[in-house]
Amino acid sequence: MRIAITGISHETNTFSHVPADYEAFVNSRIVRGDEIVREFNESHSTIAGFLQAADELGFEAVPLVFARTGPIGTITSDAYERLTAEMVQLLKDRGPWDAVLLANHGAAVSEEYHDADGETAARVRAAVGPDVPIGQALDQHVNLTQKMVENVTVTTVYRTTPHLDPKPRARECAEMIYRTVRGEIHPVQALETPPVIINILKHFTGEEPMKGLMADAEAVAQRPGMLSASVAEGYPYADVPEMGMAFLAVADGDEAAARDAARWMAKRAWDRRAEFVGDTPSPEEALKHADAAPKGPICLMDVGDNIGGGSSADSTILLAAAKKLGIGDMLQSLYDPEAVSQCLAAGVGSDLTLKVGGKTDDMHGKPVEVTGHVRVISDGKFEELEPIHGGFRFFDGGTMVALDTTDGHTLVLTSRRVGNTSRQQMYSLGIRPERYKIVVAKGVMSPRPAYAPIAAEIVMVNTPGVTTSDLSFFDYKRRRRPLYPFEKDAKYE
Ligand SMILES: [Zn+2]
Repeated sequence: MRIAITGISHETNTFSHVPADYEAFVNSRIVRGDEIVREFNESHSTIAGFLQAADELGFEAVPLVFARTGPIGTITSDAYERLTAEMVQLLKDRGPWDAVLLANHGAAVSEEYHDADGETAARVRAAVGPDVPIGQALDQHVNLTQKMVENVTVTTVYRTTPHLDPKPRARECAEMIYRTVRGEIHPVQALETPPVIINILKHFTGEEPMKGLMADAEAVAQRPGMLSASVAEGYPYADVPEMGMAFLAVADGDEAAARDAARWMAKRAWDRRAEFVGDTPSPEEALKHADAAPKGPICLMDVGDNIGGGSSADSTILLAAAKKLGIGDMLQSLYDPEAVSQCLAAGVGSDLTLKVGGKTDDMHGKPVEVTGHVRVISDGKFEELEPIHGGFRFFDGGTMVALDTTDGHTLVLTSRRVGNTSRQQMYSLGIRPERYKIVVAKGVMSPRPAYAPIAAEIVMVNTPGVTTSDLSFFDYKRRRRPLYPFEKDAKYE
């Protein structure tokens, strides 16, 4: 049994000003053939789960091409066409296939296609024909669409946010496809998309309400004849008609059972929609709270500058507020290639005054003047072996500088945008985040597995920015209406 593995993984923040062009994918690496195995085999990612299934079930996995880039803005038409053309050509040239496994994200938007993952699934379906089973293992932030579902045979969605289970979910997807090829099962999928979006602050699956919704999915999956059940949180920063939560059930041959199961999950969630709305302290309130805490580190989640959600990674809102309040003993990263160059020119061990952060756009604060000491400079590469959000292993922040300011801040200046999902980012520079009273992590959920083990407390902060939890900040043009909580009178029958 020969099964192709391929994918384009992008979470598109349509409010971001940074386009996902072909170069952005190249810079984040497009991997092909055996490179894919080398990159992901030892990781905890989706592709690792596909490869694990191949090993354990005994099918031949043929990795073709996998492209991803950090969650930034809309995928350019050129990038989308080039990436899908390569994928489709490889599927045609290297076939015939017994099946195809897709490692897409599910919240990709291109200039032309607001449902880019649906379009990709349709192109893959067209390339291999109607009879070849296709499985897709998607991120829990997928804005799941009918087009995505109807063009594939089975869909699985991560069941954890932060995402600690891409590998087992992908393995589950691959096993269903394997059994489908063998004629053991006949999956049918049913999708329900009630008009509701859950605030990013409520995405943590370890707490209510998501904890209960995931328990519902697990209960559904245990029903006789059910193969799988998923809850997608949706991605509120993609302004597309399908933006919102989704509930998917996969049954063995019984369409009515799948439909019932999906509706049951969706109805139960809908009845709890008032719990999906977020509420958080302001930067000043959060900083004062952290400063007054008996012990640290207090991990402040910079929600408005969620690097994993497509933000600029250079917000100075918390830095500026801390300086104004006279609060130090604080660690954070800032994307600022210009400041990195200035520090490089000055050299390790030198002191300098420079402006940092707030340079990408006008949504994340202004550049802040600091005077500091260049403690260390690194090539920015670090490796994580623990299972962290997304399951990735290799990271590259470009040249990175640790700068200790005269007023007690340690700034990790990076020349590439890299999320705060691994503490190795700090250890690789000789920085011990454990020793700081306040650690800022630019994200909402994704830094949690990295920082929860050392944090005395995690506080979500209502910072402005392109990923702010305050969705009234955005001017939505394409989302469906009514959609709860924007329109409180939205109905779901
Ligand atoms: Zn996600």
